[in-house]
Amino acid sequence: MKAQQARLKHNYAVRKGLITPGQQCIICGIRQSQVVKGSIIEHHDDYDKPYETITLCCSCHTKKHLGTLGLPSKEEDRNKRLYDFWKRNSPISISAVARIFHISQPRASEIIKQEEARRAKLEAI
Ligand SMILES: [Zn+2]
Ligand SMILES: [Zn+2]
Repeated sequence: MKAQQARLKHNYAVRKGLITPGQQCIICGIRQSQVVKGSIIEHHDDYDKPYETITLCCSCHTKKHLGTLGLPSKEEDRNKRLYDFWKRNSPISISAVARIFHISQPRASEIIKQEEARRAKLEAI
């Protein structure tokens, strides 16, 4: 089943009152009442099971699709900062970036590659 079909089925069941959409993100715990209407959504892990969804907030949903949900946020922040720093100061060498962020050079170039891929995916959503 396609994503859109699964969503239509799910929405129909909600309208009919057969399913009550979740009110709270299962990952970070933020509630519908704390965010803009429509930012708590139902995510399908499997489009062949249109009535099985998990409730996520926008930000956890994006992470889910990017595969970064399990990443500790501290590490994620560090990776973002490192990448932004590298971009801003380009053409700075990777070894300089690695020194500033107190990590090894291969790790720094790995992070930059990862962040680049992550941002490309983000733009494709
Ligand atoms: Zn969340
Ligand atoms: Zn989703």
